[in-house]
Amino acid sequence: MARVLVGVKRVIDYAVKVRVKPDKTGVVTQGVKHSMNPFDEIAVEEAVKMKEKKLATEVIAVSVGPAQSAEVIRTAMAMGADRGIHVEVPVAEYELLQPIHISKILAKLALDEKADLVILGKQAIDDDANQTAQMTAAVLDWPQGTFCNKIEKTDAGLTISREIDGGLETIKTKIPAVLSADLRLNTPRYATLPNIMKAKKKPLKKVTAKDLGVDTTPRIDIISVEDPPVRQAGATVADVDALVAKLKEGGHI
Ligand code: AMP
Repeated sequence: MARVLVGVKRVIDYAVKVRVKPDKTGVVTQGVKHSMNPFDEIAVEEAVKMKEKKLATEVIAVSVGPAQSAEVIRTAMAMGADRGIHVEVPVAEYELLQPIHISKILAKLALDEKADLVILGKQAIDDDANQTAQMTAAVLDWPQGTFCNKIEKTDAGLTISREIDGGLETIKTKIPAVLSADLRLNTPRYATLPNIMKAKKKPLKKVTAKDLGVDTTPRIDIISVEDPPVRQAGATVADVDALVAKLKEGGHI
């Protein structure tokens, strides 16, 4: 296995309380802390481990997004990725970009870079789409292993354990393939200060979607983004009889 392409998305940090814009067109991103999507940290860790075990020769981190997305590529390089590709998209255009566009971009780069494996996160915690890995595999017509919690190299390809409802599923796949990382695949390493410094010298190429021949015209209109309904306060009842009476009253039993 030679090359692994890893998708790293810059998202609002998981610890931030997300606020909806007053005009309901999206969420407030300005002045808000952003980080690498947590599942992408797991994807980077897995790719770097493959390189350390000599199962891969090169790890390339790709991010599609505005100028600031270069930060998450630098983080991936500080974790051990060899180089980065930043597909720069202006903020206004990026807000309308959908998983299908990202998938076409990643698929084109996978072919251009002659990648044997594309590893993505299982989902981005901002849009919770969980579509990009599946669609990238479809665009490339490569096999897919989603929700991976263990990836092992075999002579014929890969053996993957996947997290499914109520258990684990083991599958075999040939390479090239597209994989998506689930939470228990590994524990990502921290980028140490010396490695952050070293990452500044690693190559980071900038391209546009147009350079890659990918049409990014939106296919979906976002009509409205709203906060989830506020949970109603609960009530305390004196005893079981009162509880049963209340449930009857509410038509629940
Ligand atoms: P999603 O399908 O949007 O939930 O995203 C799944 C995975 O696709 C993420 O965890 C990333 O690995 C990858 N991905 C999605 N959007 C981007 C992006 N803008 N740049 C790089 N990778 C991305």
